[in-house]
Amino acid sequence: MQAKIVAYHRPASVDEALALLARTGVTSALVAGGTQAVPHLRSLPTADQPDEIIDLQALPLTDLTAGDGEARAGALVTLHALAECEALPGTIRDAARRAGPNTLRHAATLGGTLAAGEATSELLAALLVYEADVIITDAEGERTPALADFLADPDRMRGSGLITGARWRTDGRSAAARVARTPADDPIVAAVARRTEDGGTRLAFCGVAATPILVRPEDIDAQIDPPSDFRGSSEYRSAMANILTARVMEELAIV
Ligand SMILES: Cc1cc2nc3c(=O)[nH]c(=O)nc-3n(C[C@H](O)[C@H](O)[C@H](O)COP(=O)(O)OP(=O)(O)OC[C@H]3O[C@@H](n4cnc5c(N)ncnc54)[C@H](O)[C@@H]3O)c2cc1C
Repeated sequence: MQAKIVAYHRPASVDEALALLARTGVTSALVAGGTQAVPHLRSLPTADQPDEIIDLQALPLTDLTAGDGEARAGALVTLHALAECEALPGTIRDAARRAGPNTLRHAATLGGTLAAGEATSELLAALLVYEADVIITDAEGERTPALADFLADPDRMRGSGLITGARWRTDGRSAAARVARTPADDPIVAAVARRTEDGGTRLAFCGVAATPILVRPEDIDAQIDPPSDFRGSSEYRSAMANILTARVMEELAIV
């Protein structure tokens, strides 16, 4: 790789990171765990590389708290920490565990997962059914878009904002089901459903759209238009979405 990147910053506070992001005339890339960002940066032609790297790993955003039906986590909380937190719903812990091998889970962060919005992220599907909000901090303060709205925006990381954390519900019952080529592979399609305390049902998929999505539990075919790729055709994914929905609904005794 020809090097263009000329500076590396490791801010110790959110204010310092925001000040670095707010500068004009300098292009920069945020790196948290680096599991996606570093390979991406290495793949860029020199002309497309940013001038600077802003490494977020020293930011004090590693708190993870859960209780009274709600959880809150800083952007630098790792997928390993989510998987190990016994106060979190099992579907969230299992999804974090399945995101990758141990080494990846110790590096990859919640903030990076939210920003990346990977189509196959079972963790994002689980967070969707638990009514997650993303916490974004910029020069104007904090805003908390619903995760579903955040993921639906293809330009979600525009401007000089930083994901500083997320919050979500932990109450209700949930179930997850997936199809994948092997147990360790990314899912072709996965479904997560949650029965809320007030009797409502939330259903989310990954693998049927550009990002994980929330859908209404009825008439699923009218709401999805899955892409085709080497893992499965659009028709196969639609069929699996319906079958997996039936499985999670049955597990939650919602029929
Ligand atoms: C082998 C392998 C398997 C993977 N499997 C999965 C999987 O199953 N599911 C899945 O969802 N992902 C998967 N990924 C993708 C990636 O690892 C995850 O999205 C990961 O959680 C990203 O976290 P990170 O902290 O490493 O982010 P980074 O790689 O550091 O950053 C990812 C993106 O988010 C931005 N970003 C990071 N933190 C912030 C922040 N606080 N504010 C704003 N922007 C930010 C970065 O600029 C970059 O664009 C996989 C990656 C690899 C290499």
